[in-house]
Amino acid sequence: MQQAQRMSVLGTETAFEVLARAEALARAGSDVINLGIGQPDFKTPPHIVEAGAKALRDGHHGYTPSPGIPRIREAVAADVARRRGVEVHPDRIVVVPGGKVTMFFAMMMFGEPGAEILYPNPGFPIYESTIRFSGATAVPIPLLEEKDFSFDPDEVLSLITPRTRLVIVNSPANPTGGAIPREALDRLVAGLAEHPHVAVLSDEIYARMTYDGREHVSLMGYPEIAERLILLDGWSKTYAMTGWRLGYAVWPEPLVEGATRLAVNCHSCVNASAQLAGIAALEGPQDSVGEMVAAFDERRKVIVEGLNALPGVTCRNPGGAFYVFPNVTGTGTSSDALQQRLLEEAGVAVISGTSFGTFGEGYLRFSYANSTGNIRRALERMGEMLSEPAMAAIP
Ligand code: PLP
Repeated sequence: MQQAQRMSVLGTETAFEVLARAEALARAGSDVINLGIGQPDFKTPPHIVEAGAKALRDGHHGYTPSPGIPRIREAVAADVARRRGVEVHPDRIVVVPGGKVTMFFAMMMFGEPGAEILYPNPGFPIYESTIRFSGATAVPIPLLEEKDFSFDPDEVLSLITPRTRLVIVNSPANPTGGAIPREALDRLVAGLAEHPHVAVLSDEIYARMTYDGREHVSLMGYPEIAERLILLDGWSKTYAMTGWRLGYAVWPEPLVEGATRLAVNCHSCVNASAQLAGIAALEGPQDSVGEMVAAFDERRKVIVEGLNALPGVTCRNPGGAFYVFPNVTGTGTSSDALQQRLLEEAGVAVISGTSFGTFGEGYLRFSYANSTGNIRRALERMGEMLSEPAMAAIP
């Protein structure tokens, strides 16, 4: 068999590997605390589950229109207007099986050999992987710890060349929890006026998860780039629906046909019951979202304080999502080695910063989508491990 060359550059998401290893250890009797996986530890709210179940009982078992049933596209448009203050026509919305699919489509649309795509680093690993898969050159945008993991907008603009096709922005972000402040986005958007050939993919899948009274600043709020902005969002995180596989994008009008054609070629449509559940999520009570975010906020405080008390660890207070990205250089141990020892010896699953790009060395990602009790136990175990005299000798 001879596979295409591009298969050799396709990356992965290490979180799934760590999850598999953590589960294997748990099956073998170890008590593993999983702070590795990026999904809410809450159940999908019952009224959403019921809408999905009812759809199946009512016989919604067939294909639907490829970009989504009209009602869900309308519901998304109404939600975008409500939360982002921007009117979009439902025809610009393409509903897909999860946020990742929009990412993949954007890379297939813009990436090819000779093209350049800018992406956050450390960032969600699938950006770099799919850029490379498309044949394009992946150009990292460094996220800076000293800026609470925001970027320097002038540095981003300086990376743009005539070959740049797309810039990816993710706020609030995985893996850092960083939220890009309004001033940085203002400056980026102002500078993009000089580069009308560059499209923007704004991954706002954590938009509803911000803390300390911080507002979510959406790139949808900038009319200057409205004609070249792709908004990526979905249900996975907001409504604890990761396994349902449901996401959407608002595409600029000229790109809708291409996105729909990619959907027809790839998955035909999202299953009808997930779409009907998705409508119930957007239109139904939102209390569960507020409750979940309040729980995350409480855990965020516990984990940030706890990490800062550990020897060799410093941790910024993240503005959003449900991750912290502590600097562990003071432990004298590489991120990969620390990830492995924490799992195998302390029974704490976390992800090495290097899984999110080369600029992630020196950091670990913790997901605090776990109970406060488990977070405290994990911190205790880490404290014991990091205090062992032998830690100093590990490369
Ligand atoms: N974008 C970011 C930044 C993410 O962290 C994730 C999931 O972890 C996604 C997109 C993908 O979400 P989905 O599970 O809906 O494909």
